[in-house]
Amino acid sequence: MTFDYDLFVIGGGSGGVRAARIAAGEHGAKVALAEEDRMGGTCVIRGCVPKKLMVFASSFAETFGEARAYGWDVTPAGFDWRAFRGRLDAELDRLERAYRAGLDTAGVTVFDTRATVADAHTVRLADGATVTARHILIATGGRPFLPDIASAAGALTSNDIFRLDRLPESVLIVGGGFIACEFACILNGMGVKVTQFYRGEQILRGFDGEARGHIAEHMREAGIDLHVGCDVIEMERVAGGTRVTATNGHETVHEAVVYATGRVPNTDGLGLEATGVRLGRKGEVVVDEWSQTAVPSIYAVGDVTDRVNLTPVAIREGHAFADTVFGARPTRADHTLVPSAVFTQPEFGTVGLTEEEARDLGPIEVYATAFRPMRSAFAGRPERAMMKLVVSAGTRKVLGCHIVAPQAGEMIQLAAIAIRMGATKEDFDSTVAVHPVMAEELVTLRKPVRTG
Ligand SMILES: Cc1cc2nc3c(=O)[nH]c(=O)nc-3n(C[C@H](O)[C@H](O)[C@H](O)COP(=O)(O)OP(=O)(O)OC[C@H]3O[C@@H](n4cnc5c(N)ncnc54)[C@H](O)[C@@H]3O)c2cc1C
Repeated sequence: MTFDYDLFVIGGGSGGVRAARIAAGEHGAKVALAEEDRMGGTCVIRGCVPKKLMVFASSFAETFGEARAYGWDVTPAGFDWRAFRGRLDAELDRLERAYRAGLDTAGVTVFDTRATVADAHTVRLADGATVTARHILIATGGRPFLPDIASAAGALTSNDIFRLDRLPESVLIVGGGFIACEFACILNGMGVKVTQFYRGEQILRGFDGEARGHIAEHMREAGIDLHVGCDVIEMERVAGGTRVTATNGHETVHEAVVYATGRVPNTDGLGLEATGVRLGRKGEVVVDEWSQTAVPSIYAVGDVTDRVNLTPVAIREGHAFADTVFGARPTRADHTLVPSAVFTQPEFGTVGLTEEEARDLGPIEVYATAFRPMRSAFAGRPERAMMKLVVSAGTRKVLGCHIVAPQAGEMIQLAAIAIRMGATKEDFDSTVAVHPVMAEELVTLRKPVRTG
């Protein structure tokens, strides 16, 4: 049987673009890719990249304050959102062009349109045309979930924040995951009055308990009006914003409301179930360790599979798929010991097991410290950094590392290499400290603060 293409990729985000480029550019496959929106997907257009640029922009408020303590005569005139947004838009345009150029160089044919699956080897484009392929890769990612009550009241999602014409004076952020917490800190840093509701007991569910508490405390100290165990009951548009009635009995008005209560996989109307592809409860594509679906010619990678929803993981999965199917190099994407960062202020870097998870698996020792970093202590600022190692009492291996500190994302990337290599607590101890830096605390933690 002959096909138009060896591979048709649906979705031009982190996973799809990597898979297409490796399959075509390195393994010589004839590849097409359909993207219905902007090339680059969530990470480049409405996720990691614009968010991190906003983190940088918002962190200057703190830096100006510190600069004065270090002898600089600085009086900032204020933050100009429009000026920043203009530069942000230009940067995203540049990145989008770079993604397109990469696909072009690899010889991938791009269809700027929505695509759906017609059968195991056929893709239907928005204009009704069909294209056949030996393999189809679903890399359609995810989107923010907006409950009915929120969409009826005109609430925003993370997608909308990057497109605001002006910053609101006050915002309510609903949600306690990493995206909600990051935007709470970003907007707070930009001078917006931020209230945050999270219906659970503590923000950042799934992360290390102590780190979660530490970050929540800092967010409150920084001026964020954070309420946990609190949700929205009613919302209505009123002059000047949205009136919100909360489960804590309070009624408040916020100029904008942002919902960041979760994301759902983009599988609606894709035609997958009719083809025999299995979907999970959230609508995620169910795949095996090779990212293969129940239909042998159809694979899926990235957020649409709802495994570990991070850009580097989607990229790994896309690359592993291309090597396996087109490079005769069977490769599974490894989902263990994935390091990650949460760009709250202060930042959080984490890898491996939380104390709570490790405790369930066997005896552990916990080494932890909290201290005022030299830079902020000198400036008279109250921030404390936290560093924590979770160690197996039996094997002495470091099972988890959790850092809340400026630049924690940078630190955790390096700690993750040692931990992946099976470093023991004694390996950390025998490593000479770099002085004076914050991370030296990681190799000078002498006594466990807890065992269990
Ligand atoms: C606000 C925010 C911040 C984030 N920050 C980070 C971070 O700091 N670090 C990190 O690692 N991860 C972060 N993430 C997560 C990261 O962005 C995702 O894990 C990653 O983008 C997933 O890549 P993907 O290829 O699976 O999907 P996506 O990047 O979502 O790409 C899917 C693409 O498919 C297209 N598409 C969908 N359906 C169709 C169709 N039928 N036809 C054609 N095209 C279609 C979409 O338009 C989209 O471009 C963040 C996410 C958000 C929302």
